[in-house]
Amino acid sequence: MSDADRGLVADLRTKGMDMFYEAAAAVLAAGGYALSTLLPVTGLHDWLVPTARRRTEAASAAWTFDDGPHPERTPRLLDSLGRAGLRATFFVVGRAVARHPQLARRIAAEGHTLGNHSQTHAWLPGLSSRAIEHELRGCQRAVEDVVGVAPVLVRPPYGHRDVRFYLVARRLGLTPVLWSVDTLDYAGLGADAVERRAARAGAGDVVLFHDGNARARGTLEAVQRLSARFDAEGASLAPLAPLAPLARLDPAHAPRPGSPALR
Ligand SMILES: [Zn+2]
Repeated sequence: MSDADRGLVADLRTKGMDMFYEAAAAVLAAGGYALSTLLPVTGLHDWLVPTARRRTEAASAAWTFDDGPHPERTPRLLDSLGRAGLRATFFVVGRAVARHPQLARRIAAEGHTLGNHSQTHAWLPGLSSRAIEHELRGCQRAVEDVVGVAPVLVRPPYGHRDVRFYLVARRLGLTPVLWSVDTLDYAGLGADAVERRAARAGAGDVVLFHDGNARARGTLEAVQRLSARFDAEGASLAPLAPLAPLARLDPAHAPRPGSPALR
């Protein structure tokens, strides 16, 4: 797909998502709450999800790390990325941020982006709208407390979500981000397999890794090897640039959730 095509798809996705939000809001306002629980968790609205594809000449993929920060794994990943001058996005769990605030600060200080991955890594489709909001707000607060700014990106745990997730995310000014390349590191694949899967990612792809999942045993070595290779080739990673200008993704310049700048 050409860059122009990608931009068009991104535009369509943006517009599609707005229409989706509006339709869902109208149904909910009309008392059609049951609809949201009948919608499939995944599938129907997958095409509406902005998978954070970069519009312009992306040289490579964007990397994302979920479920941390983790006291042993996150620092080692940060070391590998830092040596190669690579920047990634960490979708953190609020309570892990509260437990390891110095790691959350290090992620931001080294130029990476922190995204919201809920407060307790709850399975959101099983929760009430109120509880979903509580989960997302909890993580926003945890990050803001230790980093000084709240995330602008959100990824639902397990990638599972329904219409209520999108409505809450929108209310909080958060852009949902999933992934296009799954390394399956959490399934226990070894470093070779994780490296091979991640290396398949090209321009515009969003790669899913885990730093906070102990089953992801191949991740550290795979990332270390790939980072070293990128470094040798002079390659870099693309930032996640979904529906907002890049400046807004910089933790140092991220607007507060609910900021008019994000609507
Ligand atoms: Zn997760």
